[in-house]
Amino acid sequence: MTSQQRQVLLWLSRRGPLTRSQLGRLTGGSATAVWQAVQALAAQGWIRPDGTQASGGGRPAARWVLAPTGQRIGVVRVRPGWAGLRWFDLDGTEVETAAGDGEKLQVSWPADESADAVLPALRQLLTEALSRHGRRPTGWAVCVPGVIDPAGMVLYSSPLGLRDAALGEYLRTWTGLPAVVGNDVDMAALGESSWGAGQGCRRLLYLWIDQGIGLGFVQDGQLYMGSRGSAGELGHFTVSPEGPPCRCGNRGCLGMIASEPALVGQASRLVWVDQQSVLRQLAGGDLNRVDLATLGRALAAGDPLVTQVVEEAWARLGIVTANVVNLLDPDVVLVEGSVYRLDPDRMLATLRRAVQTHGLPTYRETIRIDGGRLGEEACWRGAVAWFRERWWGAAGQGGRSAVLERLAH
Ligand SMILES: [Zn+2]
Repeated sequence: MTSQQRQVLLWLSRRGPLTRSQLGRLTGGSATAVWQAVQALAAQGWIRPDGTQASGGGRPAARWVLAPTGQRIGVVRVRPGWAGLRWFDLDGTEVETAAGDGEKLQVSWPADESADAVLPALRQLLTEALSRHGRRPTGWAVCVPGVIDPAGMVLYSSPLGLRDAALGEYLRTWTGLPAVVGNDVDMAALGESSWGAGQGCRRLLYLWIDQGIGLGFVQDGQLYMGSRGSAGELGHFTVSPEGPPCRCGNRGCLGMIASEPALVGQASRLVWVDQQSVLRQLAGGDLNRVDLATLGRALAAGDPLVTQVVEEAWARLGIVTANVVNLLDPDVVLVEGSVYRLDPDRMLATLRRAVQTHGLPTYRETIRIDGGRLGEEACWRGAVAWFRERWWGAAGQGGRSAVLERLAH
């Protein structure tokens, strides 16, 4: 494949559907070079026409998108104690395995033993996937919670207990196939950008409020990762320097105040002194059984204690969100995760109010703050977009690292 063809595929992955003239502007290729690349890719089944776009006076121009290719990507999600694998076409649609049994490929281990168990478990999962899958896949895309560098090295993952684990390299060695690794929130941001509520946005800010808190920023279909891959560690924004200690070594991080464990912990502590709260009753009298579901029921019942805990935490989250919006100036902010699902309308109202109050006047009128559309699916599908980005973007460009050069072959 020529480098112009790869550029066409890359930009259709990031921003498709696109016309030939748009592809010319984005790839920097001449009209002839783009025409030749589009003809060749269409003939080989990589791309297909998808409607037309009115052009200035002349005939409407054909728009192009990626076509289903038959190339399979094994997408792996890893959480503490669990990993699962599903097959996707390179165009982002899920495909049945050759066995067609619909049975999920997954593997589990004791969550608190993740540091020792996760790599052997992943190797077992991939071995089983290859033996069940009818033919050789094109590669792997793995979603992991933590700080991942662009070459697939897990620099730090506190949920999995990993540090400096060359996960991408291991996968390539175990299977002989290309592999990419991405942070799970970044992958979800790419998923919403490519197929979900962020489709067509130039600058998407994605907030994930769950067991931890993270952020993904996608500009023109490309993920912003920072210089080491750790951009978006929103959970470690200091919001209260005297606050509770965090695993990162600092105090009063946002994740210690507004994540799922933080909310559950705070409500459980306060309910000891508040005999009136329905939370005690909802947990069957056992305060160790307070979880996000019981908090949700107490919140829906208008319980004053739980309402106060949630509103105080979300007010902090709102101020941080407004500051991030001031910093990055996105077109749209999308919110997802278990804590958002606790009461989506209340969360969105809180964030919108905070951005109206603390944001700059320039975008108060135009910024859109909404929930994600794909939920958990965003992460799975976004990993396919990440594979394409590395596969087509890393190849054909000089000066990349040896790892990326290998990835491209
Ligand atoms: Zn922290």
